[in-house]
Amino acid sequence: MKLFAQKEAEAFVKTGAKEFRYNRDTRLTPGAKDIFTEADVKLVFDEGAAAPAAAPVSGGAASSGTPDDEKLWNSAEATKLKQQICDIGRRIWMREYCDGNGGNISCRLGADRYICTPTGVSKGFMTPDMLCMVDGNGKQLAGTWKRTSEFLSHAAIYKSTPEAFSVCHAHPCYAGAFAVKGMQPPPRLIPELEVFVGTVAYAPYMTPGSPEMADEIFKRAPKHQSIIMGNHGVITWGKSVEDAYFKMEITDAYCRTIIHAQSLPGGTAIPADGMSDLMKIKQSIGLPDDRYDLKPAQLAEVDPWAEVCGQHGCSSPVTPWNPQSNVEAAPAEMEALVQKLTDEIVKNLSK
Ligand SMILES: [Zn+2]
Repeated sequence: MKLFAQKEAEAFVKTGAKEFRYNRDTRLTPGAKDIFTEADVKLVFDEGAAAPAAAPVSGGAASSGTPDDEKLWNSAEATKLKQQICDIGRRIWMREYCDGNGGNISCRLGADRYICTPTGVSKGFMTPDMLCMVDGNGKQLAGTWKRTSEFLSHAAIYKSTPEAFSVCHAHPCYAGAFAVKGMQPPPRLIPELEVFVGTVAYAPYMTPGSPEMADEIFKRAPKHQSIIMGNHGVITWGKSVEDAYFKMEITDAYCRTIIHAQSLPGGTAIPADGMSDLMKIKQSIGLPDDRYDLKPAQLAEVDPWAEVCGQHGCSSPVTPWNPQSNVEAAPAEMEALVQKLTDEIVKNLSK
C-alpha cells in the first residue's frame, strides 16, 4: 500500500498534470484529496492498473516502464544515485550555477537506463522522489515528475562517450560570460583545468533540448569533458556524479579567474615543457584530451592573453588558436565598429 499524502499531492500538482490515476494499492490522504480538488486535478481510479501508485507525469503521459524497470528504479543502487544527484543539485544551486529551474543532472543506471532530474524544479531543492528514469531516447520509464527537456544533450554524451557515467548541465555566470561572447576560454593558464578538464570546447547556439543541440554535443564529447554551449551554459561529463560536477566547478573557476585577471596588467602562461608535463600526468590518469598528439612547441603556440584580449576588443594582436571556435578575431571589423561608435558619440555630443 502506498500512501499519497499532502506533500506528494503538492509535488504532483506542480508538474501541471490534470489527471491523477491510482489503483487499489494507493491510498490518498484527505489532505492530498483537498490539494487535488483545489488544483482541479481529476482523480481517476484505475482498478486494472498493476503497478502501485501509477501516477502520470506532467502532461498526462504515463511512465511506461516494465516490472524490471520498476525493480531497477527501486534498487539500492538507484537509491544511492538519486541521493547523490540531489546533493549535487544542492551544490550547484549554492554555487549559483543555476538560476530558477535551470540546469539538469543525469547518470547511467543500467543498459539504456538513466536517472535524470525533473523539469520545472530548482535544482537546489530536489528530493529523490522527484527524479525520473528514462531510456536513451528520453522516454520516461519511472518517476511521476516530468523529465528535463534537455535530456537529449545528456543522451548525446552517453551515446558518443562510453566512459561518461554522469552528465551535469548548468548556467554558471563566469563560463556563461564566455558563452554569450561566443568564446572558448584559452588554455595554458592553470594546471587544474589542463589536467582535470582539458580544452573547454565551444558548441554554437542551438535551441536548448533540440536534436540539433544534441548533435553538436555528440561531436565534441569524446574529447572534451566540458563544453560551453553558445548563449546558453555549460555541459560537463565525468566518471561519477560528483566528478561531472567537478568539471563544472573547475570550468567556471577558470573562467572567473580569467575575467578577474583582465583588470590587471600583463599576464604569463604555462611554458611549453610545463604543458608537456601536464599532458603526461593527464594521460597517466587516463583522462581524454584532444592534444596528446601535439609537440611541446605546439602546446605553447597560443598566447592566451592575446587570445582573450583580441576577442575582447582591445588592440593586442590575435592568433586564432582553435579551429573549432566559431569566433575568429577580425581586427578590421573591430576597427570599423569602433570608428562607427566614435562617430555616433561625437554626433550625439554635438547635438
Ligand atoms: Zn540549460
